[in-house]
Amino acid sequence: MTHGTSTPQAQHSPAAQPWPEGVTRRYLTKAAELTGNHTLAVEVSEQAGEAHSRCTGCGHPERTYYAPEIKYRAQKHAETCRALPRPA
Ligand SMILES: [Zn+2]
Repeated sequence: MTHGTSTPQAQHSPAAQPWPEGVTRRYLTKAAELTGNHTLAVEVSEQAGEAHSRCTGCGHPERTYYAPEIKYRAQKHAETCRALPRPA
């Protein structure tokens, strides 16, 4: 039996996870906060004057031509979404 120092497990922070291509912002959902599953997020992408967001928990989409509005909508959805995706 060994006693002594233990090496702490490496913690993976949400910032260390690679983001999907084209995603410029991510907002963790309420479900991510409750479960610790940081793949549950509302992901925002902007392209050619259009801004899109999509929730990885429930699939809720948003689209606007006014980019600053998408940040507000994405964060608002993320703060309340408790959805979990169906396991594959
Ligand atoms: Zn959602």
